[in-house]
Amino acid sequence: MICPYCSSTKSKVTNKRESPKGIRRRRECLKCKKRFTTYEKISRNIFYIIKKDKNREKFDKEKLERGIEKAFEKRPVSKEKIDKLIEEIEEKLRKKGKKEIKSSVIGELIMKKIKKLDNVAYIRFASVYRDFQDIKDFKKELKKL
Ligand SMILES: [Zn+2]
Repeated sequence: MICPYCSSTKSKVTNKRESPKGIRRRRECLKCKKRFTTYEKISRNIFYIIKKDKNREKFDKEKLERGIEKAFEKRPVSKEKIDKLIEEIEEKLRKKGKKEIKSSVIGELIMKKIKKLDNVAYIRFASVYRDFQDIKDFKKELKKL
């Protein structure tokens, strides 16, 4: 934080509380001793998913988790690995820094990740998520494995 009076970067927090504008901090400049207030917003970078029918839906991590966990049901992959996979996917999506992401982009990303861990889970997920045009597509996908 830069002091608005003397531009020093050294300050101490004398008081901190939540406010509708974010976290409010009272600071005291260590150089000129003047006090100032800062507001810090925790931006969780909310983004939306654009579905095939063009509807927008807020990104829902729980929904993502449910879908992925279902694909790994009764598979010999540890919960730890699955959780890590989910974290990585979420991280990657947030890093895109976009307000809207197509569901197909997310689907492909998830499939790529799952494929590295378990082929059966991959096929399960792909069959639900990609909604294969017809059975031929599905067989083609199976053959690739
Ligand atoms: Zn100062």
